[in-house]
Amino acid sequence: MDRAVCCVGGFFLLCTVATAIVKGQGGGVNPVSKAAVSDARAAQPFDVNAAVEAYLAKMPASERARSNAYFEGGYWLLLWDFLSTVLVMWVLLRLRCSTRMRDVAERITRFRPLQTGIYWVQFIVVTSLLTFPMTIYEGYFREHKYGLLNQTFGPWMRDQLVGLAVVTVLGGILIVPLFRLVRRLEKNWWVWGAIVSLLFLAFVSLIAPVYISPLFNKYTKLQDARVRDPILSMARANGIPATDVYEFDASRQSNRVSANVSGFAGTMRISLNDNLLNRCTLPEIETTMGHEMGHYVLNHAYKGLVMNGVVIVIGFAFASWGIGWALGRWRESWGVRGMSDVAVLPLAVIVFSVYFFLTTPVGNTITRTMEYEADMYGLNAARQPDGEANVDLLLGEYRKMDPGAVEEFIFYDHPSGRTRITAAMRWKAENLETASPEEMARPIFEAK
Ligand SMILES: [Zn+2]
Repeated sequence: MDRAVCCVGGFFLLCTVATAIVKGQGGGVNPVSKAAVSDARAAQPFDVNAAVEAYLAKMPASERARSNAYFEGGYWLLLWDFLSTVLVMWVLLRLRCSTRMRDVAERITRFRPLQTGIYWVQFIVVTSLLTFPMTIYEGYFREHKYGLLNQTFGPWMRDQLVGLAVVTVLGGILIVPLFRLVRRLEKNWWVWGAIVSLLFLAFVSLIAPVYISPLFNKYTKLQDARVRDPILSMARANGIPATDVYEFDASRQSNRVSANVSGFAGTMRISLNDNLLNRCTLPEIETTMGHEMGHYVLNHAYKGLVMNGVVIVIGFAFASWGIGWALGRWRESWGVRGMSDVAVLPLAVIVFSVYFFLTTPVGNTITRTMEYEADMYGLNAARQPDGEANVDLLLGEYRKMDPGAVEEFIFYDHPSGRTRITAAMRWKAENLETASPEEMARPIFEAK
């Protein structure tokens, strides 16, 4: 849908809502008619389950089958990614490519941190080439197959190369001090290793909105007052010190709707993508922004850092043990001198991959729990349960709507569509007096 049309549509919808509220209040002057309305509501209680099923039924069977196939395929990709990473790293060790890259670095310079850096650049280039078949299948062909990627090969490849450059620079910033720690501290390196890694994660999330995201998308100030003003008003009502709303061209990559509230004090910004603006009505935009504001107000960035911090500390302890164990067995055949030899890196990647593969449900549950909290916050802040249900249907384009409980626990980093719509309809049932009117008529799935 054309954006202007959508915004105007959203505006008129808002007007309709406002008119309905004003009319409702007008009626409220007459106590008899208000009582009559309450009676009518009591006589016809809002059926949450029926409303949830009605929303889920809006998704055509073919759409649902496509979305299920895409998302369930992702479960297998977790396994294939894990196995292919382990295979590539094992090959680097077994064929002594890793020790050869270290030897090259040692021949170029005697300065230890620079040796680590030179090894790192070679490592990134070699592993990116070896895993490229997986990358291109997963990120390009598969996304196109499901109609989720808007890019042709050239721009997609450009994004990959920019991403690679970012990983090379940021990874170098992390890996050099990490190996210095291993050399200095020997046995207890993992404690400080975990702390350095956490500080690094905090640093990256601080700079990402201002320095990394703009490498992939163009950010501009949202000019349309009909969308900007209600968002800023909601931000003020929730204690968020934002003076501008940014729009970014996510449609460069895909049709996925999303938004975020990121940064701190000076870099604090609210951003929403052009897909959200193009495809959604104002109530839908508002409920999405309410969710994002929830992340900010509930301090999810810090809480996530603490909870993931626990996972990371245990991971480093596991890595210290796992690397030591494997070196005890295969050190000679791989030509790796020890824990402080940078050529040990492929082994470290294997051990961390095993750990993070096995703890997938833990990581997902940490994120999913905070996402659900943000959903609740968004419902209370925006008070648009039907807008929320409609957005949940849009997100169902790439996330299976109706999984089993165990499936959701293991694989979902956001609540499923069914969980979210159920929460929205329950909220609506219990807050009907102030909820917006029905929006069921809105067609979510337009002919493609
Ligand atoms: Zn979220």
